[in-house]
Amino acid sequence: MGVVQTFTRRRQTTIAGDVAGVIRLAFAAGEIASLWGLEGTLRASLRADLCLRGWQWAVADQTARDIVAGAHRFIGAERPSWYEGQPEHVISEGTLIERTRCACCHKPLPEDRKKFCSSICYTSHKHRLSRRRAVADDKGAEMAIRAL
Ligand SMILES: [Zn+2]
Repeated sequence: MGVVQTFTRRRQTTIAGDVAGVIRLAFAAGEIASLWGLEGTLRASLRADLCLRGWQWAVADQTARDIVAGAHRFIGAERPSWYEGQPEHVISEGTLIERTRCACCHKPLPEDRKKFCSSICYTSHKHRLSRRRAVADDKGAEMAIRAL
């Protein structure tokens, strides 16, 4: 077993600043649709880099996570809620994809509607979502597995 390696806080802050710059550039260039788009990739590549330098995996992973979290703090990125991450969430203006089909029955949307083709679909969808939200996490997972 090698020596446990770490960065000084100052070094870690400097690296987080560099990573923040990379995220900003990728976002400005339209390569990622959200400031979180590179989170997994950055964490994995930082971790791999540190491991290749002889760091222990767990220490490298935690350090990579801390650096990426620091970068997101630098740029003031706010993590979207779980609900905002779901396909049912209304797509905001300016994003590349626009909904063309009903979120419930998947029929093409009439021009004057943005998410549901009718109030029946809207109501039915809301009921389904509230049922899903009402179940406890593990019960929800069971439901999801059964639905597959
Ligand atoms: Zn519909």
